[in-house]
Amino acid sequence: MSSVSPIQIPSRLPLLLTHEGVLLPGSTMRTSVDSARNLQLVRGRLLKGTSLQSTILGVIPNTPDPASDAQDLPPLHRIGTAALAVQVVGSNWPKPHYTLLITGLCRFQIVQVLKEKPYPVAEVEQLDRLEEFPNTCKTGEGLELSEQFYKYAVQILDAVSLEERFKMTIPLLVRQIEGLKLLQKTRKHKQDDDKRVIAIRPIRRLTHIPGTLEDEDEDEDNDDIVMLEKKIRTSSMPEQAHKVCVKEMKRLKKMPQSMPEYALTRNYLELMVELPWNKSTTDRLDIRAARILLDNDHYAMEKLKKRVLEYLAVRQLKNNLKGPILCFVGPPGVGKTSVGRSVAKTLGREFHRIALGGVCDQSDIRGHRRTYVGSMPGRIINGLKTAGVNNPVFLLDEVDKLGKSLQGDPAAALLEVLDPEQNHNFTDHYLNVAFDLSQVLFIATANTTATIPPALLDRMEIIQVPGYTQEEKIEIAHRHLIPKQLEQHGLTPQQIQIPQVTTLDIITRYTREAGVRSLDRKLGAICRAVAVKVAEGQHKEAKLDRSDATEGEGCREHVLEDTKAESIGDTADLALPPEMPILIDFHALKDILGPPMYEMEVSERLSQPGVAIGLAWTPLGGEIMFVEASRMDGEGQLTLTGQLGDVMKESAHLAISWLRSNAKKYHLTNASGNFDLLDNTDIHLHFPAGAVTKDGPSAGVTIVTCLASLFSGRLVRSDVAMTGEITLRGLVLPVGGIKDKVLAAHRAGLKTVIVPQRNEKDLEEIPGNVRHDLRFVTASCLDEVLNAAFDGGFTVKTRPGLLNSKL
Ligand code: ADP
Repeated sequence: MSSVSPIQIPSRLPLLLTHEGVLLPGSTMRTSVDSARNLQLVRGRLLKGTSLQSTILGVIPNTPDPASDAQDLPPLHRIGTAALAVQVVGSNWPKPHYTLLITGLCRFQIVQVLKEKPYPVAEVEQLDRLEEFPNTCKTGEGLELSEQFYKYAVQILDAVSLEERFKMTIPLLVRQIEGLKLLQKTRKHKQDDDKRVIAIRPIRRLTHIPGTLEDEDEDEDNDDIVMLEKKIRTSSMPEQAHKVCVKEMKRLKKMPQSMPEYALTRNYLELMVELPWNKSTTDRLDIRAARILLDNDHYAMEKLKKRVLEYLAVRQLKNNLKGPILCFVGPPGVGKTSVGRSVAKTLGREFHRIALGGVCDQSDIRGHRRTYVGSMPGRIINGLKTAGVNNPVFLLDEVDKLGKSLQGDPAAALLEVLDPEQNHNFTDHYLNVAFDLSQVLFIATANTTATIPPALLDRMEIIQVPGYTQEEKIEIAHRHLIPKQLEQHGLTPQQIQIPQVTTLDIITRYTREAGVRSLDRKLGAICRAVAVKVAEGQHKEAKLDRSDATEGEGCREHVLEDTKAESIGDTADLALPPEMPILIDFHALKDILGPPMYEMEVSERLSQPGVAIGLAWTPLGGEIMFVEASRMDGEGQLTLTGQLGDVMKESAHLAISWLRSNAKKYHLTNASGNFDLLDNTDIHLHFPAGAVTKDGPSAGVTIVTCLASLFSGRLVRSDVAMTGEITLRGLVLPVGGIKDKVLAAHRAGLKTVIVPQRNEKDLEEIPGNVRHDLRFVTASCLDEVLNAAFDGGFTVKTRPGLLNSKL
């Protein structure tokens, strides 16, 4: 085992002081070098030219002494191990250091330190004879309890006598051995356990094979198939469908269960027997009851309710459904779906909503052929399955949002569904047999008719559902939305009170919509916050009752004093529950919903040139509209943003052309003082958001005023609103919706309204009190508009010569 080596270690050795352990002869260790002294040694001895293998170091164990100056050489152990540096790995980051792999060769004893700097070098005396060691290096991990290891390991490097060293190391070794034995024992246990686990599994599996579980599975499956067959037999499906089912059943029985087609066919058959081929509800139509129900469920929307009742009455008399499909058209949240649901309720029918928004594949309507993997029936058949009857009310939601793609036109498929001449024979691709849809009552909804495919539009009777006025919204909130929200949150009117002024605040300062959807959501948020308070309150009350019993009445009164000023938003842990009912005032509103979202003073918005107030008509009624303009360096481009239609763009171009041709007259200039308004200039016009697209030409005068302000640098009067169409020659033409527009200006607190002269007669419709509060300017040309819109008029302040330039 040991081979004789004649090598003698050099009599002078550079010393490596390590504090990471003791290197014993015959073992290998890694040590990191980061002290200045050791770094010098590595650089000077190991990395400089001389071959690494030939470099032998004296390794001295060293405990760093914090008291000693790092510059001085610490007291050295007398005995060390001569070692061979096998590997040096270096890095400069985060600071210079090396890692050395060293192998102990033999022990030596320091005779004399020859020099200390930059690293110590000593004259040494070899203690072990090198040939006594194996020439293969054993690492410290070679702890296979070999005698060899004992022999060398016990010669620990310390300045005590051999006998003493034995005394010290033997207990250590005993412990080591015990540890090893223990380790071996646990390993063995684990292996045994593993074996046992492995043994259990096959046993369990074995018990299954001869005939229990898997057979049970199969039996169950067979039972299912028998059931399915029975259902097919007893189902009242039409003959053609029945035939298909019988045929498919035969195929299914021949198929191995592992075939993917097995599951497909089975799913198909399950759907077939589940479909309500002949199941329907009995209509109970009583027009008077229907009227009451519609009125109870919906405030306002008189026109819609009237039309729906007519529709139902005709149906009652004619006793069939042929006729146009009703389509409710209006902004979101105005109750279209809700009315559809009420119709179903009055008829005693099931209700099912089919969302069509974004559907652009005809197989969404008509299903995929069964040859596709993962094929499914379309939404109509799926809806029938869900409804469970063949005469539900189907609400085709958002027919205006149908898409079109390469996968066929869903509108065409829908047309087939809605056509009374065809729909008793509707064939879904997945089903591949006809299903009679003639008993289904279809109602469609849309936000606008503009994007409904014409063929579809032709089949429908459009009923416009306009937005609500503020007053109507308040009523809807208090009659319907708040009671519903309270119920959903488990609250009672004794616990929460929302006054009408608060509702109005929510409507005007936290929402901007034609319908009541956001309003409903905000009310929901309030109820949630109050529910927390109430629940906390109940908790506190319980606690308080307990403390009352011990501390008496006086204490409670005292606490009450302190908490009088409480409002819903206070987060401090109060001693008393909030007083009931919790009143939602504006302060509470701000705490729950955050600061108001739509609140900007009119005057604040008009504090810069390039802003004017227009009046727009929307299904909501009138609306004031801020038109904003800005200019920047560019190439004469006009950018328009906001909710607008094509007519608005035309108005903008007209306005710019008129201003350009009149720039000299009004002394309007671009940024560099030039009358060519678009020279090196881009213009951006913005019509800030509103719920509804503002189409129509009536913004013409507002755009002109806004741009006139931008190019003149003058502010438009903050109390003026205007409406009117313009011509290229600067005439002002009449527009519609004057009454609603004037009311909107009045609501917004404006004082002057500029209207086209030819609309003067419309002013008579305006209620007296409103007319009394406002000043009207009737204008027949833009000159008059501008003079009324700017303080002191828009008179030309230019050199006389320019006044006569072309108009
Ligand atoms: P849409 O289908 O038009 O988008 P929804 O039918 O979903 O609107 O209406 C949103 C919510 O507002 C529903 O909870 C609905 O009951 C309620 N709602 C809308 N209009 C009225 C109304 N006139 N009276 C009572 N509740 C209404």
